[in-house]
Amino acid sequence: MNSVDVVVIGAGQAGLSAAYHLRRLGLVPGRDLVVLDQAPSPGGAWQFRWPTLTYGRVHGMHALPGMELTGADPDRPSSEVIGDYFAAYEDAFDLAVRRPVHVEAVREAGDGRLLVVTSAGEWHTRALVNATGTWDRPFWPRVRGQDVFRGRQLHTVQYPGPAAFTGERVIVVGGGTSAVQHLLEIAGVAAATTWVTRRPPVFRTDGFGEVEGRAAVAMVDERVRRGLPPRSVVSVTGLPMTEAMRRAREDGVLVRHPMFEALTPEGAVWPDGHRVPADTVLWATGFRAAIEHLAPLRLREPGGGIRLDGTRVARDHRVHLVGYGPSASTIGANRAGRAAAREIGTLLQGPASVSPDEAVILSTRRERSN
Ligand SMILES: Cc1cc2nc3c(=O)[nH]c(=O)nc-3n(C[C@H](O)[C@H](O)[C@H](O)COP(=O)(O)OP(=O)(O)OC[C@H]3O[C@@H](n4cnc5c(N)ncnc54)[C@H](O)[C@@H]3O)c2cc1C
Repeated sequence: MNSVDVVVIGAGQAGLSAAYHLRRLGLVPGRDLVVLDQAPSPGGAWQFRWPTLTYGRVHGMHALPGMELTGADPDRPSSEVIGDYFAAYEDAFDLAVRRPVHVEAVREAGDGRLLVVTSAGEWHTRALVNATGTWDRPFWPRVRGQDVFRGRQLHTVQYPGPAAFTGERVIVVGGGTSAVQHLLEIAGVAAATTWVTRRPPVFRTDGFGEVEGRAAVAMVDERVRRGLPPRSVVSVTGLPMTEAMRRAREDGVLVRHPMFEALTPEGAVWPDGHRVPADTVLWATGFRAAIEHLAPLRLREPGGGIRLDGTRVARDHRVHLVGYGPSASTIGANRAGRAAAREIGTLLQGPASVSPDEAVILSTRRERSN
């Protein structure tokens, strides 16, 4: 049995930010702190993103704390650029990420600590930072006829880039940035494309600055504070209208249709009987928080979400969720990692949770790190 002060689950932007700040508090990775990640390589979810999502096409990616990402080739896939950057970051700060390690469950250890059960053994810990993102839990809506459709159905997580759709008739479902990016790419090679969304998309033509960003985060934060499941950031920010999108609208590509009623063996059918034949339906329908492993802790509220106070779970102060809800962006993940580390520093020093000897160790670590 391994015993540590803090387990961080996930080595994406949020987990690395938390690990960086915990290390600055004096916790030593590998001894006091362990970062577990199920992915094969550094990069968090970025390593799985499609090859045509080049670094130059990523919007508002914030660098990790303490190390800038400079001189990256905008034409290189973001999966490679960010994979290399995260690898260099983990090395530079000796974060000693353990991978691939899949966390299966987090339970009460019975002694006031938590028990983290993984594919590589068990850890006892006093605090937990959950930074598992959403990529591993794609959301597929249920639609009548999905099982009879004879074509292909893919989700964004499986999107291989546009070449795989050459000459096909493709229906793209979803109102977020990924859906629009897929649609615009595929339209260049497909025989026909149809874009459907559940709600009419809201395009932003004005600038999206700090004030708007804060307002959007506050809306998601408000839901999470009420114990409701978080909404995606695009659902509150709208879609920023780019030059490519303007052109696609003029060309009749970026034309939204309401959600179809059902799939048929040949394609989709709408309530008024209108039919569109299709070879592929691409579900760009988003993600949910990948937090099934936390189920034994019973953190959910009656509203279905996990109520947070900052990053701290209201029902269990040992547990922090970072990169979740209002912090599900690269800048949000950075801030949440710092906030979680600070609160855990306080928790580890708290009179009720540490022995006097341990409090001395933590204050010594703090002195070493300053
Ligand atoms: C297609 C796409 C494009 C985006 N573009 C942008 C952008 O341009 N700018 C921006 O700011 N944000 C963007 N975002 C959002 C941004 O990616 C995220 O907010 C942020 O990078 C997520 O970081 P994270 O650390 O929360 O999660 P992730 O990067 O998903 O990292 C989570 C890590 O946890 C691991 N993990 C999951 N479950 C377990 C488990 N049970 N056990 C062990 N490990 C586990 C995963 O393997 C992964 O390595 C984008 C998101 C998507 C889906």
